[in-house]
Amino acid sequence: MNDSIKRAKDLVEQAQRILVITGAGVSAESGVPTFRDATGLWKKIDPYKVATPEAFEDDPEFVWKWYDERRTQLKDCQPNPGHYAVAAMEKAKQDGFFLLTQNVDNLHERAGSLRLAHIHGKIYEVRCTKEYTIREDFQTPLPELPPKCPHCGALERPNIVWFGEQIDTDAVSQTESFISKGDMDLVFVIGTEASFGYIMDWANRSEGSNGKLIEINPGTTSLTASADIHLSGKSGEILPQLTMNL
Ligand code: NAD
Repeated sequence: MNDSIKRAKDLVEQAQRILVITGAGVSAESGVPTFRDATGLWKKIDPYKVATPEAFEDDPEFVWKWYDERRTQLKDCQPNPGHYAVAAMEKAKQDGFFLLTQNVDNLHERAGSLRLAHIHGKIYEVRCTKEYTIREDFQTPLPELPPKCPHCGALERPNIVWFGEQIDTDAVSQTESFISKGDMDLVFVIGTEASFGYIMDWANRSEGSNGKLIEINPGTTSLTASADIHLSGKSGEILPQLTMNL
């Protein structure tokens, strides 16, 4: 164990309040492609063709086919040691812990995380375009594309935040509520480019005057310069070292 990991492990053990922010990188070792890396999803398809309200309006079937494939691929992916370590942190800190994920997969929940918010929606939820009701649907592939609302028959869409749309308001309230209860001793930013202003803002604001910001990422990001500790490497390898014997 190197010195930075040892220091981070001590901080985790001592912390009373921890906020963890995760991105696509935390699921990479589970076989879920990230967005912007060399082999990422946005290298294969233009995001504006599948992840905007306009694309859905133009061709809902095309958009749904893309999501149906991602939903199906995800079924074979399992949580990795990084997801389990985040859940172990929560188990140790209980109400002193909150997880804010940008991921639309359900691997954190499958590893045991309970106190979490999905800021960009969930891939196994569908939303009626007329009544805005949300339902879970785990069928892969979906029997009918595009799916229709079982109540009113209107078109349903993935319950995912697309480019140009507002982030999930319930997830924002849950995150703000946790932050408002007191400064964090520790904020983790794991496996994300932190390219959205609100992610940077939450990361920087919530550490308060004495808190520490720890980043886990094999590369550098817009938050690396302000991180107290940058742990360079894969989250599935680093995180379990921080929660060992917690
Ligand atoms: P991104 O693709 O922009 O960045 C991924 C980051 O993870 C990079 O900084 C990369 O260096 C890092 N990374 C790669 N492998 C890693 C590993 N093993 N351990 C730790 N870090 C690793 O992704 P982002 O910043 O999360 O972008 C945000 C958007 O991506 C969100 O809207 C989110 O909904 C979406 N997204 C989600 C999933 C998912 O649900 N699993 C997958 C792809 C994209």
